[in-house]
Amino acid sequence: MAETSKHTGDQLHRRGLMLILSSPSGAGKTTISRMLLDRDAEIALSVSATTRPKRAGEVDGVHYHFVEQAEFDRMVEADEFYEWARVFGHCYGTPKAQIRAGLKEGQDFLFDIDWQGTQQLYQKDQQDVVRVFILPPSLDELQRRLTGRGTDSAEVIAARMDRARAEISHWDGYDYVVVNDDVELCFEKVRAILHAERMKRARQTGLIGFVRELMRD
Ligand code: 5GP
Repeated sequence: MAETSKHTGDQLHRRGLMLILSSPSGAGKTTISRMLLDRDAEIALSVSATTRPKRAGEVDGVHYHFVEQAEFDRMVEADEFYEWARVFGHCYGTPKAQIRAGLKEGQDFLFDIDWQGTQQLYQKDQQDVVRVFILPPSLDELQRRLTGRGTDSAEVIAARMDRARAEISHWDGYDYVVVNDDVELCFEKVRAILHAERMKRARQTGLIGFVRELMRD
């Protein structure tokens, strides 16, 4: 049994990837992220550090590492972030160490970050990054979704709509663009992207040994 599994393509060692999902707030990326994390055992969320206050229902270490500004500044100074940015007056950053180690082991990471963070990550590590942008079917629908959430004031929603327009203007900095008018369909498309990207030759680090074995006779 062990002998057969050693020669199965699915068992080949591969390098992990960094799947970036970006979208304007309210376009569904949080839902799609949750579906991926629930249904795919090989991908884990990259948990960012932030200085913004915790929202109701958020858990420290799960949704974000909630830190004081002084601690965030120390991490920047110590070069502990892949990238960081200031959004709505708060700081957000992607801690490096865990991700680098995980990628080597074949662990995939999911990133819920904006276009600036995406650019920075891509500049640092093009080979591991897969960039997916999720678009809402319309801006009216986006506004409905943001209002329906009931967590933010009218001013905050107006600011988010402005930011949504700005975010959408960066759609062409992504490898894939998916319109979310049906959440299940959108999820299936994102999952298809993930599956195909895992199969890329450059990521399948076990291939050399496998083919060498295959050719030996
Ligand atoms: P929220 O406060 O609604 O959770 O997130 C606000 C914005 O910050 C979102 O657009 C989100 O994508 C972005 N964000 C969250 N974590 C990071 C991060 O680590 N880096 C960057 N650049 N943006 C982030």
